Amino acid sequence: MKSVVNVIAWATLTVGVAGPAQAQFVWPTTGWIGSTYYTWRTGGFYHHGTDIMAPLGQRVVASHGGKILLRGWYSACSYYGNLVAVRHPGGYDTYYGHNSAFGPYGIGQAVNQNQTIAYIGSTGNSNGNHCHFEIRRFNTYIYSYSSQIYVPATAGGVVTAGRPIPYVYPGLTTPPPPGATGFPVAIRVNAGVTALNVRTGPGTGYSVLGRIDGGQAYVALASSNGGTTISAAGWGKIQYDHRTGWISGAYAARTTGVTVVTVTADAVNVRTGPGVGFAKIGQVSRGMRFVRIATSGGGSTGLTAGWHKIGWGGRAAWIIGSYVAATQMK
Ligand SMILES: [Zn+2]
Repeated sequence: MKSVVNVIAWATLTVGVAGPAQAQFVWPTTGWIGSTYYTWRTGGFYHHGTDIMAPLGQRVVASHGGKILLRGWYSACSYYGNLVAVRHPGGYDTYYGHNSAFGPYGIGQAVNQNQTIAYIGSTGNSNGNHCHFEIRRFNTYIYSYSSQIYVPATAGGVVTAGRPIPYVYPGLTTPPPPGATGFPVAIRVNAGVTALNVRTGPGTGYSVLGRIDGGQAYVALASSNGGTTISAAGWGKIQYDHRTGWISGAYAARTTGVTVVTVTADAVNVRTGPGVGFAKIGQVSRGMRFVRIATSGGGSTGLTAGWHKIGWGGRAAWIIGSYVAATQMK
């Protein structure tokens, strides 16, 4: 990437000491550091990220919670190839370049720290599979480098996904949990409704995927109008079994206080009952969210040893607790 080297905002950094409860960035993937920030590269351009060399297809996770800012081929600067950027509290943005594929979160959707947002690749200006990782602050424009933030790393060193990056980033706070603002939220089909159609798109012209009944609750991921609620006139995009589907907002309303489980592993089986002896009826992947109906074994909280009964494609199904995280939706 060609650019002019500007003054770096060193003053905004505090090196390494444990301070008052500051939120932290974590490494987005596991691998060895191919280069560090601010090095001249062959061809006379200056490199503005930390490269983490990693195998093709390995997952890239959000370094901190926030909302997806950019996701796609970055035509404004082809260097990045398939780029994901996440906007965090405190004016921070993180950039993840050269991906081979993207995670399930679209632009504007909330993402938690450690959730998969992309997969390692070598797209764009790249000579091998790696994650080009940047942390920026107050960087309104992609070509403004005046406020870049240092990522401490040593070429050849190994970093591990999910481990804290050993710096304090002033002003970085933990964003509200999913559902506190915007999507995802939990929605419940109005009592008395029977066989509400779930469709492949936001309108009656789309084909029917399945049906759900009154009282059933699902996680809504987005609305057809792009707002932060699902209006009676709009449509809500829900997590419907391993897929997503759309239901009319006229027959469902947001609900709070329900517990939602988020899948934390790459592929987890969903079964007809609470145990591996029950039939497998589907498979879910990291980041998918389901409303919890009941639990079995392991108690009502924590539940790493037990099973969760979840809403699944119009009926209930079971998923093992060791590969999900349970949170209460606001
Ligand atoms: Zn790079």
